[in-house]
Amino acid sequence: MGYVKGLICKECKKEYAKEPIHVCEYCFGPLEINYDYEGIKKVVSKKSIESGPPSMWRYKALLPIDEDPKVGLNTGFTPLVHAKNLGKALGINNLYIKNDSVNHPTFSFKDRVVAVAVSKAIEFGFDTLSCASTGNLANSVAAHAAEAGLKSVIFIPDGLEAGKILGTLIYGTQLIAVKGNYDEVNRLCSEIAVNHKWAFVNINIRPYYGDGSKSYGYEIAEQLGWKTPDNVVVPVAGSSLITKIWRAFHEFEMLGLVDKVQSKIFAAQATGCSPVTTAIKNGSENITPVKPNTIAKSIAIGNPADGYYGIKTANTSGGYGEDIADEEIVASMKLLAETEGIFTETAGGVTVGVTKKLIEQGRIKPDETTVICVTGNGLKTQEALAGSFEAPAVIEPNVNNFEDFFANSLTV
Ligand SMILES: *Cc1c(COP(=O)(O)O)cnc(C)c1O
Repeated sequence: MGYVKGLICKECKKEYAKEPIHVCEYCFGPLEINYDYEGIKKVVSKKSIESGPPSMWRYKALLPIDEDPKVGLNTGFTPLVHAKNLGKALGINNLYIKNDSVNHPTFSFKDRVVAVAVSKAIEFGFDTLSCASTGNLANSVAAHAAEAGLKSVIFIPDGLEAGKILGTLIYGTQLIAVKGNYDEVNRLCSEIAVNHKWAFVNINIRPYYGDGSKSYGYEIAEQLGWKTPDNVVVPVAGSSLITKIWRAFHEFEMLGLVDKVQSKIFAAQATGCSPVTTAIKNGSENITPVKPNTIAKSIAIGNPADGYYGIKTANTSGGYGEDIADEEIVASMKLLAETEGIFTETAGGVTVGVTKKLIEQGRIKPDETTVICVTGNGLKTQEALAGSFEAPAVIEPNVNNFEDFFANSLTV
């Protein structure tokens, strides 16, 4: 058995039973998981976690499923890389990359939320999975549906990168591209959810889905040696990850696993879709929805579901929000690859580039411990780099030909 008492409204605190629902029927606030922390305190310790599996399931007592996980047994516990070369390039000394570009099975942070959502959907007895996705969620839901032997119907905006589309179709799903942006896809799915009893992982299963993100925060703290960092730079789409990293650190504090949390949480977006960072910069608590126009498609949500809480997290932690233009995203993807050997997608370019900007602004100081969230894999967003490189040199298969080439044009 798990440690979930039920659901609770984040705003009016009305309690609900464990159901596939996500909105409070009294105040329309979002529902979240109501944990039995007294019970959790009795079983969770550094030792209990350290003796768990090398996956996100080492934190199972803090995740919202009642039975053993049904899918994604190898998800999470991705590397926390001490990024000395990138740190040097950016002029700071204690820089880390939390690298979910190598997460299992579909190479993004979304495998965490989906592993929980699908395990919970199976507990609820659903036979069909669904979602509205900017790409990575589509990949992950399709893969986990295949693993679970469930049907899946997946909705994406048209015009996504080829790698995101093929990386969904390969799992044998029903993929539907909707003419419009993510926000229109999501609204459509909310309407479809009324007629079809499917598990929409980011809609009716959202409270469970969201808490899968907590594992990313737990891992940062454990992998830093049971410490929370001074700064975390987080890519923001719907604002689930940013709020849950903050929640994860505070749960660890409450359980006595880390000292008092003093981390500043920084929101990172692309300028072409920056409703959260714009609000933070303007000192506003509320989102003004935008129409996305950026190569960072995986985080291009113009009207983020948890945007209000994302803003609040950055502000109450003492962090900030910044955004960068598409050219800087590409330059930052290259910088990370060239300095650390990590090929991230556009969203990772966003966090690296925003970190650079925050250092230049003096908001991140050279001797502080800083973690950059790298949440997806660059092989999925190759379009972003189109025209960035010359084609490889072509030579005949003989030594003389190579030596000629070497003498005349080899640049390394
Ligand atoms: C979905 C996603 C995020 C963040 O999403 P939230 O909705 O803010 O939790 C970040 N990076 C990548 C690559 C994503 O796919």
